[in-house]
Amino acid sequence: MIAFADDQLSIFDTFVTEVQSSFAPRPLLPSWEWVCANGRTHEAQPFDATQMPWAKGVCEAWDNPDVREIVLMWGTRLGKTMVSLQLVAKTFATDPKNGIFATSTQDLAIRTANEKLYKVLAAIEQTQKLLMPEHLRTAKQIQISDCTWPVVWSGSNSMLADWGAHYGWANEVSKWVDKKSADGVGKQGDTLTQFLERFKDYWQTRKVLLECSPGLKGKCKIEAKFLQSNQCHYHVPCPHCKSFQVLKMGKGDGAGGIVFEKTRDGKLDAELAQRTAAYECEKCRKRIKDDDRWWMMRCGKWVPRGCRVDKKGKLCGKPERSCEIWGAQLSSLYSLQLRWGNIARQFVESYKNPIKLQVFKNDWEAVTWEPFYIKTEPDQVAERLATEDAVGIMPAWSTWLFSAVDVQAEYFKWIKVAAGPGERVAIVARGACDTWEEVYAQCVNSATPHADGGAALMPCLTLIDSGDGHKTDEVYRKCREWTRPDRLVLPCKGDNTDSGASYVKSVVVPEKHKSKTLKRQALRAQGAVVIRVNSFWHEPIINRWLSERKPGEPDSLSVPAELCDDEEFIHDLCNGVQSGNPSKMQPDRMLWVQRWPNDPNDYRDGLKYCRCAMDAKFRGNWRVADGRQPANTAAPVLKPRDPEPQQRADEGGRGRRFTRERTRSRRERMARR
Ligand SMILES: [Zn+2]
Repeated sequence: MIAFADDQLSIFDTFVTEVQSSFAPRPLLPSWEWVCANGRTHEAQPFDATQMPWAKGVCEAWDNPDVREIVLMWGTRLGKTMVSLQLVAKTFATDPKNGIFATSTQDLAIRTANEKLYKVLAAIEQTQKLLMPEHLRTAKQIQISDCTWPVVWSGSNSMLADWGAHYGWANEVSKWVDKKSADGVGKQGDTLTQFLERFKDYWQTRKVLLECSPGLKGKCKIEAKFLQSNQCHYHVPCPHCKSFQVLKMGKGDGAGGIVFEKTRDGKLDAELAQRTAAYECEKCRKRIKDDDRWWMMRCGKWVPRGCRVDKKGKLCGKPERSCEIWGAQLSSLYSLQLRWGNIARQFVESYKNPIKLQVFKNDWEAVTWEPFYIKTEPDQVAERLATEDAVGIMPAWSTWLFSAVDVQAEYFKWIKVAAGPGERVAIVARGACDTWEEVYAQCVNSATPHADGGAALMPCLTLIDSGDGHKTDEVYRKCREWTRPDRLVLPCKGDNTDSGASYVKSVVVPEKHKSKTLKRQALRAQGAVVIRVNSFWHEPIINRWLSERKPGEPDSLSVPAELCDDEEFIHDLCNGVQSGNPSKMQPDRMLWVQRWPNDPNDYRDGLKYCRCAMDAKFRGNWRVADGRQPANTAAPVLKPRDPEPQQRADEGGRGRRFTRERTRSRRERMARR
């Protein structure tokens, strides 16, 4: 409970303004009381203690003579920057000693100095008078008469190798980069170690605050620091049974956490989740409403690892670690700017998409994100996914058929995959062949019987990989030649940029390319629709099928036993893994790579394209799969488009040829009429 009676505050106020300035040395004031009385936001509003009762514990740790470092691994909307700013201001006002402020980038460093630090210091009466005149202030360092705080960032050259600091604030710690020097050789130690080196002259009395939301598991600096700390969590009481507990998302399994209603058929719906969300006590299982949030958070206690809180709010047990590093984890579930419904909604909108889910885990739940590392071996996969289904026949439950073709220099590999209600997927057949004719006969235009005796089906959509630069033209041509309305054939391409969606439909536009070859290819393919398959979206799905799901479950894969006996095939399907290397384009995304770089992964790619084809065909609405795919083995209703005439290599200039082609086809169309 925060007990700061008004009269108590005014005593401090008087103390601070009248007594403190006239006596030396400056007395130590409890930081929380100082912050509550004097703290200001960068907009010059009074610090609102009621919005962040958990900040009291941080201030107490700041005052605790045994604590050297404070680690805040917090989610967003909890005021970690706000608390840090107030504590910096308090040291300026009451114990001015040299310090250092560090953050991730130069831009953020300058912005935080100008728009946050200076503004807070200028808004607080006691620090305002210590500041230099405005025209002499610089974002490179915060200077007052008695002390200096340089402003640095993780990419800055030296991290001020010669500077000795007593106090420190390290902001956005997980985002600090470990920069390499110009000759490509890594610098000694990482940037956080370099930063902490600055305190070695005052090691026994240093006070350093480090804060950030967590990032990737095992790679994240704030998590590493938190794990070295006494690991405090914020326990809050249940308004019904008074049991203290840590707020968590929960799993909807009746063991506590955020609960909300689902639609009648068991689906998650963001709007419904927001409207019906509440918190379920892990002890008495009663529902806790939004109205109780303020009371709960006000009664909260920081509890180090090894301790608990009894029903009277008393801390019991012995901490596992001493508190030289005081660490605190806090999720946005505590934020008083949010309601249970906001959190439930954000979860529902994120949970299916690994990218959004990573943001939810890091920034809302304040936990690290674990990339999808492989847990299962191919033989285990074969054993779990095998079914009695016959190869080449659609399983009885399945409703739609898709296929994909992987194009290699010497051969083709194709795969047929059936889809059914509940996002269930089954591999029906696979094969390798040498010619386009065989691809057409065995895959694109081949009728597959159905186990329930219903009409045989041809794949409703076939995606052909156009990624192999040498055959791109051929792929576009074949797609145009073969496609018909009830049996589409489209080129596709793996995409290593995360668009945040299953796929992007792009139309080939020649002007995009710089290289001559690409330009020529694109010109010929002008207007072709290419499905760009987002690997970051589909690889986790395949991984989930292979390592977690069993045939028959929703969102699962099944494979006929006969194909499971084919070791090479299963090895190929399992040949994908999320690497420890971030994408160059998107540093917070780990690239997906081959698990065994020398072995093929063509069928895995095929499976990925088929799964993407399902999204493209169903437009993301899997209820379409509740009904059967329209039969398409009869002759097409509409005449397929004429194949493009074969290009001769020696035909004139690119631009000119294109015009001629268009003229010619127009003439041909006229002739047909
Ligand atoms: Zn309870």
